[in-house]
Formats: sequence, C-alpha cells, structure tokens
Amino acid sequence: MSPPRVCINCRQSQDYIALVDVNAMYVSCERVFDPSLHHRPVVVLSNNDGCVVARSAEAKALGIPMGYPWLKLEATAAQHNLVARSSNYELYGEMSSRVMAILARFSAWIEVYSIDEAFLGLRGTLDELHAVGQQIKDTVLKLTGLPVCVGIAKTKTLAKLANEAAKKVDALGGSVCLGPRTRNDPRTRAAPPASDRGLGDRPPRDQTPQRDGHFYGGRLSRRRPSTYP
Ligand SMILES: [Mg+2]
Repeated sequence: MSPPRVCINCRQSQDYIALVDVNAMYVSCERVFDPSLHHRPVVVLSNNDGCVVARSAEAKALGIPMGYPWLKLEATAAQHNLVARSSNYELYGEMSSRVMAILARFSAWIEVYSIDEAFLGLRGTLDELHAVGQQIKDTVLKLTGLPVCVGIAKTKTLAKLANEAAKKVDALGGSVCLGPRTRNDPRTRAAPPASDRGLGDRPPRDQTPQRDGHFYGGRLSRRRPSTYP
C-alpha cells in the first residue's frame, strides 16, 4: 500500500478543502472486528486499562467523560450495557493507513492531520463537491467498515466547522459543503465553541468572546480567509 501524498500548503493550489474525519476512530475500529459492539455504549481504555480514551456516541450519551477512570465505571458497566476494550494502537494505525490510502485516490493533495483526520484539496461546482463528499464517505465505509464525516469549504477552519455540522446533524447525511455564499449559514452560527473543535486556544485578536468566553462559527466564518490559522 503506497503512502498518501502530502501537500504542505494545498489551499493555494485547490479551490476547496475537505476535512475527512473518522467518527469515534478507536471505537469504530473495534466495531469492525466485533459487530456485537454496534448500537451499545463502548469505551476504549488507555494502556493498562486505566482511563477512557475513546467513547462511542452511546457512551457519550451516558455522560462518561474522556479520561474517566475505568475503576469507577466497572461496577455499574453491566447495568448500562457498557463494554470496555483495551486499546490496540497497532490496529488503529493500520486502519488509519488504509483510510488515508483510500482518501489519496480522491485528490493529488492530501495532508494527513492526525490518525483519523486528513485534509484533501478538491475542485468543482458545489453539486460536484457534494457528490464527492458522499462518495468519499461511502467508499471508506465500504472498503474499511469505518464511518467518516466530510466537511468541505474554502479554508481548513471552515472545513473543520462543516465537518462538525456533518457529525452533529444526522439529516445532513454525513457530508457538508460550505460554499462562498453560505458563510452565514445557520449551521455555522450554531456550531459549538471553537475550543471544543480543537481549533486552538488563541482567539483572534480583534474579536471579543461570547459570554462564555468562546468564539463561534458565525464570527469565525466572517474573517478573511488569509487570517485563518
Ligand atoms: Mg475523529
């Protein structure tokens, strides 16, 4: 399997950027090899089964926080139908390589951002981009069994935002494309705080935070692209 090609600054050479992110990567990898884990709360534990390092949506719904000690969950796990798996980083790394190799088929420009995320350079009309987003999602699921969401926009920051919308709103079908005329889209205004999306701790200098100290998508989306991180 050939390694994915990497582009350091793809935003200059492509019209749009897609962020493809595997949903609950560690849990999804475990589910590929054990289908009985579907539709029930699952957590993956750190080395020596100490703490929770990944949660399925069902486990999140139970209110289990990241980093929570398994010792404190173990006693009530059966009551909640909660399953724990020891982490298997070799497996996750191998699955990640497969996903990245598939993504590399869709673009000559790919920047692997983390074990479960990559940016791709894409070009096309909004309809074409919507179709490519769905195709990426369907292909990765078919070939690896891993569910992904796709966010497509003009910048990496907005692609991240679109990806969050695709993840949180089921009706969007797992793929969201933000065109140039959708900067004030309600989906971006309703986005969660930037600090929850891993966009960095440092707020833009010329903006004041919301009441809770966070910056929201609507404000981010109105910034000039050249000023995005
Ligand atoms: Mg992910």
